[in-house]
Amino acid sequence: MSEQGNSPKHAEATLETMRRVFTLPENERSTLSRLDREISENLLGFLKDRVVTGDIAPANLERDFQSTELPEHPLFVSEQVEFLLNKVVAQSVRTASPSFVGHMTSALPYFMFPLAKIMMTLNQNVVKIETSKAFTPLERQVIGILHRLIYEFDETFYDKWTQSFQQSLGVFCSGGTIANVTGLWAARNTVLGPRGDFPGVQRAGIAAALRHYGLDDIAILVSRRGHYSLRKTTDVLGLGHDQLHVVDINAKHQIDINALRQKIADLRRQRIGVMAIVGIAGATETGSVDPLDAMADVAQEIGAHFHVDAAWGGPTLFSSRYKHLLKGIERADSVTIDAHKQLYVPVGAGMVLFKNPEALCSIEHHANYIIRQGSRDIGKHTLEGTRPGMAMLVHSALHIIGKKGYELLIDLGIGKAGQFAKMIKATSDFEVVTEPQTNILTYRYVPAEARRILESGTDAAKAEANEILSELTESIQKEQRTAGKTFVSRTRLESARYGGKLLTVFRVVLANPLTTRQILSDILEEQRGYGEKLIHDGFLTRLAAIAT
Ligand SMILES: *Cc1c(COP(=O)(O)O)cnc(C)c1O
Repeated sequence: MSEQGNSPKHAEATLETMRRVFTLPENERSTLSRLDREISENLLGFLKDRVVTGDIAPANLERDFQSTELPEHPLFVSEQVEFLLNKVVAQSVRTASPSFVGHMTSALPYFMFPLAKIMMTLNQNVVKIETSKAFTPLERQVIGILHRLIYEFDETFYDKWTQSFQQSLGVFCSGGTIANVTGLWAARNTVLGPRGDFPGVQRAGIAAALRHYGLDDIAILVSRRGHYSLRKTTDVLGLGHDQLHVVDINAKHQIDINALRQKIADLRRQRIGVMAIVGIAGATETGSVDPLDAMADVAQEIGAHFHVDAAWGGPTLFSSRYKHLLKGIERADSVTIDAHKQLYVPVGAGMVLFKNPEALCSIEHHANYIIRQGSRDIGKHTLEGTRPGMAMLVHSALHIIGKKGYELLIDLGIGKAGQFAKMIKATSDFEVVTEPQTNILTYRYVPAEARRILESGTDAAKAEANEILSELTESIQKEQRTAGKTFVSRTRLESARYGGKLLTVFRVVLANPLTTRQILSDILEEQRGYGEKLIHDGFLTRLAAIAT
């Protein structure tokens, strides 16, 4: 409702008030601009604060959202705005803060705020042309641009396929998870596709498909660094978690090609077919990139689908300096890229690109009222139904930031990760755990007392010290999060140096161009402060008690 004087807090639910909700009368437009201004100013003020929001103490937070009772009468918009600003905005996370370097949720360029309004106001539904018109070819264009970034086919190819409606160069979706599911769904339907009288897995289901192909099971292979969305994928596709086979990694957290071959041989003996091999281009925890070329060779030899999960690292291809890291990606049958990570668009935009424009036909679906046979609607190739016109924002970012802009951002992030690693090594009480191959690195705090044991202790002593250090790392990260000045995340990784044992480490993701060296050095200083305090609170005694 729009504001009506100062008295009651709610309006009456009449037809008239409901009409006004949908069409604000001409003479009350000022209400809209006032609201707009108020919200924008509040948001910009919120974003400007360089501090991450304080610890999200669940119990306190939940109290504000406890009530399940809905007011009987319509609330005034101004009432709701007050609630939103005080309880929701004020208690959210400043993912845009330059000292928020712990997660993959990116800061947004300012132009997204006004441009997002276009998308919201038009509210197009890209599932079909009747509800999206220009947004459909626009989305195909964006898919074409990203396809070209990966596969670099010639002009003739893109002239022919970009706007082709029988085939698709890829699909847009809400994120990397759905992109991975879609890529591997197409893979499943192709590998277990129609043959002779057999109508294919899409119609006959997994059990009949396995019988027809003479297999006991069908597997997906990925390294230990694979994203957890792949586990969900095996569930959704009817394979089951056990058919996600995890392959060992080398010291750089890349898939071990020999172990991959060995695993394939083992599976073959058990009559388990390899449906797909998944390469990682920018692992979520370490930023490491698999040897994609060698993986493509293996996939080709055994006739498996080769999927590359480049949700994070895909945009590295914009950098002439670093694109060589992803060499072999152009041989992938399908590639996942998240636009809401390193393309800097708002959350809710992912893509999967297919080398073969016919590949998506294997998952095609039709419905009489909406997506008829031979229709031009994108919806026939998507897992999701109704979808927003997010492609508009990706198109905008791609053009406003441009190839050179992305190249700069990528180079900046990777460069900064290298510098941060150097800064860490220059200290005597921190150590890098995984060197940055791209713009992600992990490290931990190792005070002198622990360092001594790790350098010259027995294996048992080292293991004990590492356990204590893992607890210490966790405690430091929690202290830091609670203080809310800066933020890094933490994860647990196998360490080649300590016989594959799991270590808790700090994880830093460097994609915000406003993160400076000074901020990174402040982060170390702050962590050192917590570390020194914590070791005197008991960790020191425990370290001293270890028999070396
Ligand atoms: C983020 C990420 C995903 C999942 O993407 P969502 O957008 O969170 O669904 C998958 N794989 C990798 C490597 C990622 O970094």
